Amino acid sequence: MPGGPELRAKGWRQESLLRLLENVLSVGEDPENLVVYAALGKAARNWASHEKIVETLKTMDEDQTLLIQSGKPIGLLKTHAKAPLVIMANCNLVGQWARAEVFYELERKGLICWGGLTAGAWQYIGSQGVIQGTYEIFMRIAEKRFSGSLAGRFILTAGLGGMGGAQPLAGRMAEAAILVVDVDPERARKRREIGYLEEIAPDLDTALAMIDAAVRDKRALSVGLVGNAADIYPEIARRGIVPDIVTDQTSAHDLVYGYVPRGYTLEEVRALRKTNPTELMAASRASIVPHVEAMLEFQRRGAEVFDNGNLIRTQAREGGVANAFDIPIFTEAYLRPLFARAIGPFRWMAQSGNPDDIRRIDDRLLQMFPDNRIVTNWIGLARCHIPFEGLPARIAWLGHGERTQLALAVNDMVAKGELSAPVTFSRDHLDAGAMAHPNIMTERMKDGSDAIADWPLLDAMLLCSSMADLVVVHSGGGGYAGYMTSAGVTVVADGTQAAAERLSHALTNDTALGVMRYADAGYEESFEEVERKGIGYLGVK
Ligand code: NAD
Repeated sequence: MPGGPELRAKGWRQESLLRLLENVLSVGEDPENLVVYAALGKAARNWASHEKIVETLKTMDEDQTLLIQSGKPIGLLKTHAKAPLVIMANCNLVGQWARAEVFYELERKGLICWGGLTAGAWQYIGSQGVIQGTYEIFMRIAEKRFSGSLAGRFILTAGLGGMGGAQPLAGRMAEAAILVVDVDPERARKRREIGYLEEIAPDLDTALAMIDAAVRDKRALSVGLVGNAADIYPEIARRGIVPDIVTDQTSAHDLVYGYVPRGYTLEEVRALRKTNPTELMAASRASIVPHVEAMLEFQRRGAEVFDNGNLIRTQAREGGVANAFDIPIFTEAYLRPLFARAIGPFRWMAQSGNPDDIRRIDDRLLQMFPDNRIVTNWIGLARCHIPFEGLPARIAWLGHGERTQLALAVNDMVAKGELSAPVTFSRDHLDAGAMAHPNIMTERMKDGSDAIADWPLLDAMLLCSSMADLVVVHSGGGGYAGYMTSAGVTVVADGTQAAAERLSHALTNDTALGVMRYADAGYEESFEEVERKGIGYLGVK
């Protein structure tokens, strides 16, 4: 794991980006194959690319920019010290060809790779990155349906992978009894080992009995169960049990390299990936049909059911489930009022590797935003429940102006020696101005602008002109091919005046664009934010 005060590169900006690359691999799911999460989300195209990126980051000057195309370093060009050090374009296919089959073929030929959202952009911080989002979803549901509390409520979900692995802990933090099904025993074991999952039940009967007891006692509990969700969900429905909340985070977006169809062993699936991906695709789609039909059945019987961003409804609809979209997407159902004010998953990482740096920033954050209920509640919970993975990091959903204020305060702390090394700031790509994804982020936008991908492209260009250290444009790979485009940003707080300028421009403009994107789509909250914070939205009708 990277960390410590020693520089291997010519400056902290380059060194920090190098550490971020090392970090995503150190906490990733399958580092030997450069895979960070979501089945195929990679940190670099191949090992030769990885080595060249590492070598370049170590030797490049501050006034140079490294160009990366789908995980492969292409060139190092002279720019200037205020330009980004790294710019990336990952997995962007021309519209007519943006399909899973074309992606797989180009991937096999070694011409492209998918960066997920934060994997290829070296911004992944382990399961913590997604955990606050999952927790906030659960709490919005608690407010909407269960008088503000999930104590004594049963959440059923699946997927214990890189992102899905956050679910058991998020459920427990929300005080629910949560059952998480995963077909791979290794994934369940890993989540228990790192403290995200409490128990692994030997079979469904035991799992349901454990959940039942916890519900009766109103006791928070997370239980893992090894099995296929396409078997387990229908079986729970058949027994007449109705969970309070149902979702799914298997990697259903990828029918070949992600989802495991029922009736197949993991070994059979691994072999078919090489020998007959077409059969596997068909089997996965067929398996998603009963999986989603069971979710719809739970919904009919009164459960709160939602899609958690894995494209499972889209796959089900293509498999013949005409009403799959009766299940709402989490962004529209619960989080849009936050995104409309550009409040979203902001995060920072201590380059020192020292968790005390994160704790000191927690203290500062609490001092700065004592009246921000989302932040104060979250930091209290995160401190007590979330183990650090890799470089110590923290996520907190902050909005326009708040992100810049915090980053500048942290830059000052670095300058004064109150932190042991620089800190990097980034965010998830699932953020207000940063993502066009008509089946996840921008589904059913008020003005119908769901499919317009201009916003993330504008965001990336704006971030380059705002002096960010790393700027990236990602589009979908595997099953996401043709479904999304997003932009990512990283800025290094190394305590210098130049860093203060970069943080101020990049973070302020990033969220300003987010507010403008939603104002332009007609969201009231965004107009209020424009007025309140003096954002330069021109408001042309
Ligand atoms: P991953 O590939 O690391 O893990 C997926 C897990 O699903 C694996 O552990 C696998 O064994 C399990 N699985 C596959 N098929 C199964 C089945 N039929 N039954 C039970 N378990 C099965 O992926 P991840 O990083 O955890 O992401 C999961 C999904 O969530 C992806 O589609 C990803 O794109 C999506 N995602 C959504 C958000 C969000 O903001 N809501 C964020 C990140 C990822």
